[in-house]
Amino acid sequence: MTRDTRHPETICLHAGYRADPATGAVAPPIYQTTSYQFESTEHARQLFALEQPGNIYSRIMNPTCDMLEQRVAALEGGAAALAVASGQSASAMAVQNIAQAGDNIVSSTDLYGGTWNLFQHTLRQQGIEVRFVDPEDPNAFVEASDAKTRAWYAETLPNPKLHVFPIAEVAELGRQHGIPLIMDNTAAPVLCRPFDHGAAIVVYSTTKFIGGHGTSIGGMIVDGGNFDWAAHPERFPLLNQPDPSYHGAVWTEAAKPLGPIAYVLKARTTLLRDLGAAMSPFNAFLFMQGLETLPLRMREHCRNAQAVADFLDEHPAVTRVIHPSKQESFWRARADRHLAVGYGGLLGFELAGGAEAGRKFIDSLELFYHVANIGDARSLAIHPATTTHAQLTPEEQNATGVSPGYVRLSIGLEHIDDIRADLSQALAKAEGKPA
Ligand code: PLP
Repeated sequence: MTRDTRHPETICLHAGYRADPATGAVAPPIYQTTSYQFESTEHARQLFALEQPGNIYSRIMNPTCDMLEQRVAALEGGAAALAVASGQSASAMAVQNIAQAGDNIVSSTDLYGGTWNLFQHTLRQQGIEVRFVDPEDPNAFVEASDAKTRAWYAETLPNPKLHVFPIAEVAELGRQHGIPLIMDNTAAPVLCRPFDHGAAIVVYSTTKFIGGHGTSIGGMIVDGGNFDWAAHPERFPLLNQPDPSYHGAVWTEAAKPLGPIAYVLKARTTLLRDLGAAMSPFNAFLFMQGLETLPLRMREHCRNAQAVADFLDEHPAVTRVIHPSKQESFWRARADRHLAVGYGGLLGFELAGGAEAGRKFIDSLELFYHVANIGDARSLAIHPATTTHAQLTPEEQNATGVSPGYVRLSIGLEHIDDIRADLSQALAKAEGKPA
């Protein structure tokens, strides 16, 4: 397997697609088709038998999605990727691909609220137990694991705490026990490549920074190709035992001619086939477009967010700024070990006036959008306790770091003076002062 060794700026413009062989078109074509003409009955048979790669039906593969998959896999330094309908479906399928009823995974408590619900309720209802542990203690992952543990799961830069996850330490412990680490890298594309730190699988909500313009919902599962599933046949029966849903295919064997992609091959040929959470080719095109400027945008998100963190840190109405640059040296050193370019586009803060001041602040914003999203080119704000994390109990909210007065910002690409001006006037109103 050859990895693309070019820089992220180059990969994001060139990997996975050069020009359309039929027309020479330089922009990626949108293959808006459900199905593909087989050359013969023998050709069709070979495609279905996985004897040769090729397109069958757009629920399980599509040429525009394929370009995006190749580009994201190259950016991450992974072996292959699978585009899916949303970040939620990426997280769900990443677990369901190796865990079945009676199995468990161990997850960090510091999660996006939607993932928390998926793990705490929906996967549990399906018989997959998710054991939550404090990410501050890598050994907690070992202690919570047993013979039925199929994966460990965490986010690289989880909001609201924005404590970078100790990827290298936990991945190394996992490898000692034959357990893969799945990392949700949604908040840190380009800034962090979890495979470089030992993670086995990366998932994304491409809805956020990768798309970057708030137009489309999508997700991605990337296979690092760096985990030896066949070395642990008892832990991974779904990859090592004949699959009755695919005429007895053993995925670690079936993948051999294609490369170290057993995990993602199975996800495509069984879960995407059966659950049908496919990405539309039009959305794949928009994500390709987003990727073209991703490294550039991430630099600017980081620069603006740093300036906002410094500004809020000096503001008398603000009691606490949550941003990796403002964390104690231990946390900051961890962020420095895992993140390149900067500390990301997200930050949080708490107001002296608590929840009421937080609400007033958000209602007073004029430039920032008040939305349940992150990673847009525009600046965004939300009050998590009453929105994204509202379905959690107060205890669960506390465990994920959401206090009643916490305000989350996703800093966009506007001019920093205009961002600061909007924050200033909204902070003044939140304090009850004239702007
Ligand atoms: N992971 C993280 C870190 C997220 O922030 C989100 C959405 O906010 C998701 C996953 C889910 O992604 P989607 O909304 O694309 O389903």
